[in-house]
Amino acid sequence: MKKETIRFVQAQLNARGLDAGPEDGILGQRSLDSLNRVEGIPADWSKTRKAVAFIQKLAKENDIETGETDGYWGPQTSFAFEALVQVLVEGREPEIWRPEDLPDENPNGWPKQTPQESLFRFYGEVGENQAAVELPYPHKLAWNKTTVVNRFQCHERVRDSLQRVLSRVRDHYGIEEVQRLRLDLWGGCLNVRKMRAGTKYSLHSWGIAVDYDPERNKLKWGRNRAHFARPDYDMWWRLWEEEGWVSLGRHRNFDWMHVQAAKL
Ligand SMILES: [Zn+2]
Repeated sequence: MKKETIRFVQAQLNARGLDAGPEDGILGQRSLDSLNRVEGIPADWSKTRKAVAFIQKLAKENDIETGETDGYWGPQTSFAFEALVQVLVEGREPEIWRPEDLPDENPNGWPKQTPQESLFRFYGEVGENQAAVELPYPHKLAWNKTTVVNRFQCHERVRDSLQRVLSRVRDHYGIEEVQRLRLDLWGGCLNVRKMRAGTKYSLHSWGIAVDYDPERNKLKWGRNRAHFARPDYDMWWRLWEEEGWVSLGRHRNFDWMHVQAAKL
């Protein structure tokens, strides 16, 4: 367990009056005694497992998903820990988890994705009416990161909105943070194709969906694994949602790489 994580545990124990002693990042006897005073943690677990269980309990108390309180540090606990630090240390709101609570703004009047006739009516034939969006910050091809992308083709009806979102992303995060968060790893937009095992067209067929950082947000990954589910990306999604775009990850918890100008 990292020193800073142990420090966090000690601080939280102390905040509860459980006397963990100095917050030095070392899981010593005094910290262990303190952990032993936390209700519901089995006495025979190792000290590290107890500390992890304590973090999991804290997450639960703060309505952050963490699964079972088993004392093991997996991806879900790792995510929960980040969210906890935001809530308890930085005093920020926890990320929205319930899709029904997501904002439902639609200033551009995006159509619903079903039935597909509504997409044909609003956007026309697949692969047509395309325009180049000039990117407010350079992108890189996700599958070939040395290739810089300054513009790409998308549907002309979504172009201005796309540009506004990305300008706000740049203004909010700054280029360095954009790169650190991999908001510049572009996974594609226009791609005329039918959906697997279906007769329907993918939304990419109209150039109204964009993928970002597919490597860390694989199609079938849920919020426990997808990086875009992390609190760091809350504003990224808010900026899309303000323009009416929909994240499948935020709403359906899969395909976190994908954002689309069509409502569910
Ligand atoms: Zn996609």
